[in-house]
Amino acid sequence: DSSTAAPAPKPWILGIAPYVPGRATSEDGRKVVKLSSNENPFGTPEAARDAYRSAASELERYPDAAAIELRAKLAAHYGVEADRLIYGTGSDEVLHLAAGTFAGPGDEIIHVRYGFAVYEIATRRVGAMPVIAPDRDYATDVDAILAAVTERTRVVFVANPNNPTGTYTDGGEIARLHAGLPRHVLLVLDQAYTEYLEAEDDDGGLELARTQPNVLVTRTFSKIFGLASERIGWGYASTEIIDAMHRIRAPFAFGIGAQRAAIAALGDDGFVTRSREHNREWRDWFTDAMTAIGLRVVPSKANFVLVLFEGALTAEVAYHALMAAGYATRWLPGQGLPHGLRITIGTKHELRAVADVLAAEVQKAG
Ligand code: PMP
Repeated sequence: DSSTAAPAPKPWILGIAPYVPGRATSEDGRKVVKLSSNENPFGTPEAARDAYRSAASELERYPDAAAIELRAKLAAHYGVEADRLIYGTGSDEVLHLAAGTFAGPGDEIIHVRYGFAVYEIATRRVGAMPVIAPDRDYATDVDAILAAVTERTRVVFVANPNNPTGTYTDGGEIARLHAGLPRHVLLVLDQAYTEYLEAEDDDGGLELARTQPNVLVTRTFSKIFGLASERIGWGYASTEIIDAMHRIRAPFAFGIGAQRAAIAALGDDGFVTRSREHNREWRDWFTDAMTAIGLRVVPSKANFVLVLFEGALTAEVAYHALMAAGYATRWLPGQGLPHGLRITIGTKHELRAVADVLAAEVQKAG
């Protein structure tokens, strides 16, 4: 009966579990400290705020669809070619573009267990099948990824450091992964948290993308640059890959304020250095504090840690206790981690308060 018929979503769309964003309020609507989305507790570089404000008089115009100034700035800053860059509404969109350009129904896309939730959504959205490579004690296992490759594999998503585990895969392992992949498989190296690594921890991603025909590196302004609201992500790969991806992107990925703010943020090395140093010091402090009360922390090189609740205190109880105390963290039962809480490295005041709440809860649970 055509009067009751309705548009039918493609069959695989309803198999997608919607993305659940980090909470900024408690269940009863109170505003809480947000340690649930790995944002920068120092805010945004002052120069980026000023640059953003300067765009307010030009809001009636479309932004530069080619992002010429920003690409030139990125090229100079990272030593990459401006014509080998793609950009999107957050690096989320760049990940979607990668799946949409290289995979479709019948194809497979590999990601690790305990990987970033968007990989599975981007995979299913195009009708491809997610293939999950088991972890090695929460870390990325290169051999497991290589073992998961079939002739249907089109893309491999690897985040380094990984979210939600914070684990880091070194340059030798990334090179071994790349060397073991057939050349028709695109390796997407998601470096959303790369600026939090120490200088000696270069995983070689940009160099691989510069020299290899099948590597895409993705980056974001959402994390250390403090611009999550403006949705600015980019990617670097061969001319052929980038040219193909540009054909399906939204014409105007991000606004003029976003482009100006990103350019200004790239000019503030001091902000980035301070953010990295604070993060290292307080990630170490928080890891020690958790270990001291008997909780296990997965070794992290990112701006968050995954705390494991393997004793009397459950992650669920800890999550609700922290929320009641005014701190939103990320409990991840939907990602196979009912025993894990992911906690962003906030200010020292926030982390001390979180550690106090958890110490009291551990005591209470006996
Ligand atoms: N990759 C990883 C691993 C992430 O954790 C995130 C942010 N949650 C993103 C990509 C996407 O960030 P954005 O879209 O804000 O650039």
